[in-house]
Amino acid sequence: MSPNSTPIKIGIVGVGKIVRDQHLPALAKDRDYQLAAAASRHGKVDAIPNFPTIEAMLDAVPELDAVSLCMPPQFRYDAARTALEAKKHVFLEKPPGATVSEVEALKSLATRNGVTLFASWHSRYAPAVEAARKFLGSTTIRSAAIIWKEDVRRWHPNQEWIWQPGGFGVFDPGINALSIATHILPAMFITSAVLDFPENRDAPVAARVAFRTSAGLPVTMDLDWLQTGPQSWDILAETDAGKMLLSGGGSKLAIDGRIVHEEPEAEYPLLYRRFAEIVRAGVSDVDLAPLQHVADAFMLGKRNVVDAFFD
Ligand code: NAP
Repeated sequence: MSPNSTPIKIGIVGVGKIVRDQHLPALAKDRDYQLAAAASRHGKVDAIPNFPTIEAMLDAVPELDAVSLCMPPQFRYDAARTALEAKKHVFLEKPPGATVSEVEALKSLATRNGVTLFASWHSRYAPAVEAARKFLGSTTIRSAAIIWKEDVRRWHPNQEWIWQPGGFGVFDPGINALSIATHILPAMFITSAVLDFPENRDAPVAARVAFRTSAGLPVTMDLDWLQTGPQSWDILAETDAGKMLLSGGGSKLAIDGRIVHEEPEAEYPLLYRRFAEIVRAGVSDVDLAPLQHVADAFMLGKRNVVDAFFD
């Protein structure tokens, strides 16, 4: 925070797992923010005023400068619109919305109202992502593979929204991989996809996606939500300078088996640094490439019905 700037008064909306795990600790340590209120139907944050809705929060605490919207993506647009129309800066959790066009509409609304919209992609701030981007930019890539396999029962227990239309299913973690891939690999587009839908759910539990870059480079993505035991959040690339492995969701970089970058993660503190920076600069940061790929996978993907899923 520069010596002359006052802290950004922020309200948090949709108090659930990610707010408790990441947003509250990151905000508590950042002197550029004052957490002034929260809005959630059931969740509460200690030691600040709590409200049942964003409308009630904005009425009661008009001095808020910004809001962080952390509810599931299907329920984020109305809250974002309300906040932008009230001329508040808006931080959107990932994915920024349930459709590409609603986020485009929010982007225009933010510009019209002279406030900042931030489509946050936390995995892009994982510690080894910039090193991977630099490495790939310095060599010729031959092919790449994204392997994102985790246990939904362990990471998303009893989250019904994630299985509903607009909840993204396995693309909820998969979009984190795409937020890294679209940052470190050349621009690409989907050529085929197969999505496995449990017979009792409206969102996929696994997906296999093939991409091609404009230079014809093949990129594959394998998403699986039923992975027990070791979890994989890896991006591999075959390059002229060796085999790259970006593992641990972007936290560790190895070239030909030798670790070249590893440090503790600080994704959410960095996200809030970035938000403060763009609020102070009066600009927005809304990259829709990861969301567009998910939309394309649903548009082009073959639907495969698999065994029912029970928590
Ligand atoms: P969550 O634990 O289910 O919390 C979301 C909160 O949003 C709920 O507790 C709920 O609080 C509120 N909400 C408002 N309207 C809702 C509705 N109609 N249905 C369900 N909840 C509603 O989910 P989360 O894991 O925090 O995830 C929220 C967002 O953060 C998602 O976009 C997710 O992709 C992202 N995210 C999650 C993680 C993670 O590890 N969990 C990591 C990074 C990003 P009230 O009932 O009090 O309103």
